[in-house]
Amino acid sequence: MLISEKLKSNRVCTSFEVFPPKNDMPFEPVKNAVCELSAFSPDYISVTYGAGGGTSKNTPEIVSFIQDELHIPSVAHLTCASSTKEEIDVILNELKSRGIKNILALRGDIPDGVQPDDNHYRYASELITKIREFDCFSVGAACYPECHTQAKNSVEDLMHLKHKVDCGAEYLITQMFFDNSALYSFLYRALKVGIDVPVVAGIMPVINRKQIVRSCSLSGATLPSKFRIMLDRFSDEPESLRQAGIAYATEQIIDLISNGVSNIHIYTMNKPEVAGKIIENLSSIL
Ligand code: FAD
Repeated sequence: MLISEKLKSNRVCTSFEVFPPKNDMPFEPVKNAVCELSAFSPDYISVTYGAGGGTSKNTPEIVSFIQDELHIPSVAHLTCASSTKEEIDVILNELKSRGIKNILALRGDIPDGVQPDDNHYRYASELITKIREFDCFSVGAACYPECHTQAKNSVEDLMHLKHKVDCGAEYLITQMFFDNSALYSFLYRALKVGIDVPVVAGIMPVINRKQIVRSCSLSGATLPSKFRIMLDRFSDEPESLRQAGIAYATEQIIDLISNGVSNIHIYTMNKPEVAGKIIENLSSIL
């Protein structure tokens, strides 16, 4: 099932992101996590791709497991910064031969000391163009409501995003954000420049302080004062912070759905119990 088709429906669409095992680590814990997630009937599950050999070779295996054994549509993330064009060709042929139909095309982070050359796709847009040549994949891409951390400014970032859509990205999944008004403003600006593909809101339930510090330094997401106060109040009480983080994510999703944002993607961090609590909180709404 093509994700681009699923996202065309008017109903609320929920999905999860998981990461595959690190190379040479067992598959079992990740497979168990996705089995548990499957009980919440997500519309699809996406599987990240660890650049630089981190987890990349295990992504197709987990995607195949989700779609072939659990019968849930799945999306393979694919990054291009740390692979040559020839290596990308090999990976795309593997995905095709496994019957994988959905790819989230990403640049990935450029490894330290590496200078992208003609042997590499420099931006996600170039990877998207390549994937479209295969004529058998539905392609999504990433977007950044609060601007990509390396972009010169938000106007240029938006023009680069428009280019990704023009190259064939059929839907966009957002970077995590904790202030819904950042997403609403982004959606407005995106429409104004002609980006009219579905935008899927990426929600990160924050359940510990270490995670939030790391996530924010990587993503550049701003923390609303309501969120900071919650972190300060509960930072020394792990169980309370976990409960508050789940409640915050739930509230964020209710506000999004109330305002017409119907595609919700939960960054599960391979913790089915957290994603499950959120889905449970939304049971009547979904
Ligand atoms: P691009 O769209 O190529 O943009 C990168 C930067 O280059 C931006 O600042 C953009 O404005 C700029 N740019 C684009 N085109 C041009 C141009 N022609 N000229 C000049 N500047 C340009 N990382 C992983 O390693 N594995 C994953 O599985 C993964 N999954 C992700 C899922 C989501 C939903 C998101 C939001 C991010 C994910 N990432 C993942 C992180 C992502 O790889 C990084 O954020 C990366 O730095 C940018 O990737 P991109 O595809 O958005 O890049």
